[in-house]
Amino acid sequence: PHGAPGLRVHELEVAYGRVRSLRGVSLEAPQGSVVAVLGANGAGKTTLLRAVSGTLRYHKGAITGGSVEFAGAPLTGLDAAAVVARGVTQAPEGRRIFGRMTVAENLRAGALGGASRKATAEARARVLDLFPVLAERASQRAGLLSGGEQQMLAIGRALMARPSLLLLDEPTLGLAPLMQQKIAATITEINAQGTTVLLVEQNAATALALASHAYVLEVGEVAMNGPAADLAASDEVRRRYLGEG
Ligand code: ATP
Repeated sequence: PHGAPGLRVHELEVAYGRVRSLRGVSLEAPQGSVVAVLGANGAGKTTLLRAVSGTLRYHKGAITGGSVEFAGAPLTGLDAAAVVARGVTQAPEGRRIFGRMTVAENLRAGALGGASRKATAEARARVLDLFPVLAERASQRAGLLSGGEQQMLAIGRALMARPSLLLLDEPTLGLAPLMQQKIAATITEINAQGTTVLLVEQNAATALALASHAYVLEVGEVAMNGPAADLAASDEVRRRYLGEG
């Protein structure tokens, strides 16, 4: 349901040992939305996604305060598998696909353990429809794909779990402009099919074009937030994140 409670992050505090990386971050991504999180290197964007996806512990981090909930149920403290079971999936960080496995095997690895054969086949059909090149390359080793194709596979693998909320960490990083546009168009399509998207990006222009609402993180805090169009028009955002003036 459009606009229903989706992701709610409330006063979130995260630390890696003694390093406090998030200091009271609050944000919302209602169901059906694309919400962007912008910020410079080290602002805490990846940390925020790790806190939502339950993967902080693999990076020696922990939630030290606040809460995360999705669709009205708490995610705080759940491990990664439990978060996926609640309908929240992250495309592998740094597009870490399994390079020695084939494209088809990578996709299979993204399917939920308990999913029926029919559900998995439907998920695969949706992914191959979004990314036809993955069908062409199904039996190739994933490590031999181009950077853009690997990003497609990373997103495709996340979609195999049929998430309600998809978490994306810099999906256009390092890609040529044409491939960036392709990925951006696909994110719009994924959202149009009903998946809520939380998009972390250093590429503010792409993110603000895709999102309805955006948050700017600065050293672990929300420095600004508002409708994406308003942020795109703000002098400060233009100067600091769109490389103008
Ligand atoms: P980038 O775009 O470089 O990924 P980011 O906005 O995603 O930046 P984070 O990676 O979340 O930022 O980092 C936020 C802060 O937490 C930084 O100061 C970083 O040094 C620190 N940090 C991140 N991961 C760890 C870790 N595993 N151990 C200790 N400190 C960490």
